[in-house]
Amino acid sequence: MSEQRTVAVIGLGIMGGPMAANLVRAGHDVIGYNRSREKVDALVAQGGRGAGSVAEAVTGADVVLTMLPDSPDVEGVAGDLLANARPGALWIDASTIRPDVAARLNGAATERGIRMVDAPVSGGEAGAVEGSLSIMVGGTAEDVEAARPVLDAVGSTIVHVGPAGSGQTVKAANQLIVAGTIQLVAEALVFLDAHGVDAEAAVEVLAGGLAGNRILDRKAAGMIAGDYTPGFRVDLHHKDLGIVTSAAREAGVAIPLGAVVAQLMGALRARGHGSLDHSALRLLVEELSGLK
Ligand code: NAD
Repeated sequence: MSEQRTVAVIGLGIMGGPMAANLVRAGHDVIGYNRSREKVDALVAQGGRGAGSVAEAVTGADVVLTMLPDSPDVEGVAGDLLANARPGALWIDASTIRPDVAARLNGAATERGIRMVDAPVSGGEAGAVEGSLSIMVGGTAEDVEAARPVLDAVGSTIVHVGPAGSGQTVKAANQLIVAGTIQLVAEALVFLDAHGVDAEAAVEVLAGGLAGNRILDRKAAGMIAGDYTPGFRVDLHHKDLGIVTSAAREAGVAIPLGAVVAQLMGALRARGHGSLDHSALRLLVEELSGLK
C-alpha cells in the first residue's frame, strides 16, 4: 500500500503552516483549513489544496491533523470533524491541550469509528520548518503505527509514550522544563549584563559545559539582542503552564519551581507581553531588577 495519504490540516499557524508544507513535500495530498483565509492561500501557493470549512477539509481525508491553540479550539472543531470524517479515518491532534480533554476526545472519536492519537510536538517553529519535531504520541499501538508515515514527514523523534492522553502529559512535562530553563537563562543573562560581562562570550562557554542546553543554543542570541519575535507566544506558554499546574495538582505532585515560573509567565502576560516570544521572560527579570 502506498504511504501517500490525503491529509486534512486544520490550523495553519506558526506550527501548522510549515507542517502542512512538509506534508506536501513528502508527497501527501494536503487540504488545509484555517480560520483566516490568507493562511490557506499560503498553503495553496506551496502545492496544497484549500478548504472553506472543517467539514470540507475532512470529507474524504484519510488522516486529519489538527494544530490549534488550546483545548476549547480543538473541542470546537471536534463536532464537525467527527461528523464528516469517514469511518476508519485517523485523527492526529498535534495541538497542546489538556490530557483529560485529549482522552475524552479519543473516546468520542472511537464511538464514531474514527481512530485518534494525541501527538503534541516540541521543537518550536524552527523544528516545524525543518521537519525535525520531537513528537510524543498517546494512543493504541495500532493507531500510533498508522500515524507514523504522516508524523515522519514533520518530525524526526517520534515516540509512543502510552495510552490516549499520555502524549499530552509528556508535553506538559516538556513545557515545565522549557519554561524553567528559559527563566534561568534570562536571570543569568541579566546577571551577566549587570556585571559588564560579554554575554555572547559567556553563552559560548556556558553552552559547552554542564549548563549547556537547547534554550542557550536556540534562544540566547535573540534574548541578548532583545528580539522577542515569536516563536512560541507567551500566551500559549501561559496556557501550557495552566495545564501543568492543574495536572500536577490532580496527581498530588508538588512543583514549587514550576508554580513560580507559571506566576512569572502570567505576570509577563498581564503586563501586555502575551504576543511576544516566551524568551521575553528576560524583560520581566529586568523589570524586577529595576532595569526597565
Ligand atoms: P498559532 O496561533 O500560530 O496557530 C493557530 C492557528 O489556528 C491560527 O492560524 C488560527 O487562525 C487557527 N485557528 C484557531 N482556531 C481555529 C478554528 N476553529 N478553525 C480553524 N483554524 C483555527 O499557534 P501555533 O504556535 O501554531 O501553536 C499551535 C499549537 O501548537 C498550540 O497548541 C501550541 O501550544 C503548540 N505548539 C506551538 C509551538 C511553537 O513554537 N509555536 C511549539 C510546540 C507546540
